[in-house]
Amino acid sequence: MMKQNIQAIARACNGTIIKKGSVDTIGSVSTDTRTIQKGSLFVPLIGEKFDGHTFIEEAIKNGAQAVFVQEGHNTKTIQAFNDVWLIEVKDTLKALQAISVYYRKLFPIPFIGVTGSVGKTSTKDLISGVLSGKFNVHKNLGNFNNEIGLPLTLFNLEENHQISVLEMGMSSFGEIRDLVDMVHPEIGVITNIGVSHIEHLGSKEGILKAKMEIASNFKEGNYLLVNGDDEYLRCIHKDDKDYTVIFYGLSSTNDFYPMSVEDLGEEGSAFTVEINGEAVPFKIRQLGIHNVYNALAAVWIGLKYHMTFEEIQRGLDGFQPSKMRLEVITKGRMKIINDAYNASPDSMKAALDVLDHMKSNRKIAVLGNMFEMGSFSEEGHRSVGAYFAKKNIDILVTVGEMANWIGLEAKKYGIEENSIRHVFNNKEAIEMLGQFVQEEDAILVKGSRGMAMEEIVNFLQERS
Ligand code: ATP
Ligand code: MG
Repeated sequence: MMKQNIQAIARACNGTIIKKGSVDTIGSVSTDTRTIQKGSLFVPLIGEKFDGHTFIEEAIKNGAQAVFVQEGHNTKTIQAFNDVWLIEVKDTLKALQAISVYYRKLFPIPFIGVTGSVGKTSTKDLISGVLSGKFNVHKNLGNFNNEIGLPLTLFNLEENHQISVLEMGMSSFGEIRDLVDMVHPEIGVITNIGVSHIEHLGSKEGILKAKMEIASNFKEGNYLLVNGDDEYLRCIHKDDKDYTVIFYGLSSTNDFYPMSVEDLGEEGSAFTVEINGEAVPFKIRQLGIHNVYNALAAVWIGLKYHMTFEEIQRGLDGFQPSKMRLEVITKGRMKIINDAYNASPDSMKAALDVLDHMKSNRKIAVLGNMFEMGSFSEEGHRSVGAYFAKKNIDILVTVGEMANWIGLEAKKYGIEENSIRHVFNNKEAIEMLGQFVQEEDAILVKGSRGMAMEEIVNFLQERS
């Protein structure tokens, strides 16, 4: 973060300065006393479990230069810290957002927003990877994609950043709109319309409507990039919009599609696109056909910002995917596919495709519960079971009560009883895998974040 004047920060969020401190500027903004840096502004947020105001003194001891306090909170003990600025605001979260907007406006660079049901982080990483072939790119770290994470991400903007790629997440209506109102991206990407968060949004149509909020401020000159192979996104009309809609995907009905795609197994994929009459080959190291989609969006954006084909490929070569997303770990002759970051029916199916294509002695899928699907839960899990049955995978291990539906459905489609095992938690899964995993197996581990299935990955990795 570039140093900011504290009085200007207070003005930006309509805050009242209760007490001035000794130094006039802050060098960072933090909501967490465990990671706060010297010279920061501390913003105490009020959450379901904790009220950040209880940590103000700790924040000051750890180096906060200024603190926000929400109206109605007692400031007596804080006033005793002579050097520290104290600023009262109506609502600390709104104030955090307001100052992030103030800060963002200091950067006249292009911003790109990425949303969708699955693949936001993967797509954001691929787009920023491509752009890094030419530019100094700013992006959210990990999954900082909501009404708190996005403002914090914006404070990481530095003077030398040339372009910014931001993942925008949501679980109900209006959230993406709030995020784009903060950022004002000039290009938006929607990866797909799946069933994540369907419990809040009612239906897939509802989800589409919520995701389309990414274009709410768009006018002529803006671009909305959507996966045109998605049955919902493909229904978006181009003609009634002021901005330009670009469809990308594998099918040749899209505006941007590959002439050919080659699955390189564990090496990733290669694809060729026609650009101004020339067939241009690209290669990605990420696994799975879904990453070809993500890469198509990234390549289109690279071209939009006048990158050469070499620069785009250099960007694709140079980037590290975020952890726990189809990360292949080789241990001796065993392959572990760590996809434990999260799960939804769509991404489970994508991961099963990847496992199916692995070259190994036996293939084992360890699949855990998928949360946040409300009344669609059973159907969602069962759809993965039906999909599993079509694949050439030797053993299915389901972990957790809901995941049992995956096995039940797979059985219905003819998978033999002895190829399916069910356990209730990671500990039981570890005990069981310990008994039958062999040297040359390929093992996929995937489940919702709440399942913390990296515990199983760690076990497999450390096992001698
Ligand atoms: P979250 O909502 O947790 O932020 P996300 O939308 O950022 O999720 P990722 O973290 O990129 O999604 O990926 C989640 C899972 O989906 C991973 O298993 C990943 O391999 C898979 N995935 C990535 N891109 C796609 C895609 N285009 N289609 C289907 N699955 C995908
Ligand atoms: Mg994400």
